[in-house]
Amino acid sequence: MTVNHAASLPPEAVPLGMDLCPRCDKRPIKLAGTTVWLCIHCYADEKQLQARRAAASQSFVAANFATPVCMACESNDVDADGYRWWCRNCRAVSRVRRRK
Ligand SMILES: [Zn+2]
Ligand SMILES: [Zn+2]
Repeated sequence: MTVNHAASLPPEAVPLGMDLCPRCDKRPIKLAGTTVWLCIHCYADEKQLQARRAAASQSFVAANFATPVCMACESNDVDADGYRWWCRNCRAVSRVRRRK
């Protein structure tokens, strides 16, 4: 049976940090991508793609930064809970999802 990891599900409804990312099957799910919940690596990949498309269409909005390596201090000691991404080293926080 396939577990439902639809991106529309709130963080409370997915086994956050426990189930593996459906895309890479390696790292735990942490953030909601466009269609499914992803790990921080795959989420960052997807966002970068979107940011590039947005930049090309001139409706560019600065993307939230939620990356496997902190863009501020280059530490990889980062984590996310579905709503926020944060760096444990420099305490940078990025809000990635609105609470309903
Ligand atoms: Zn992944
Ligand atoms: Zn940092």
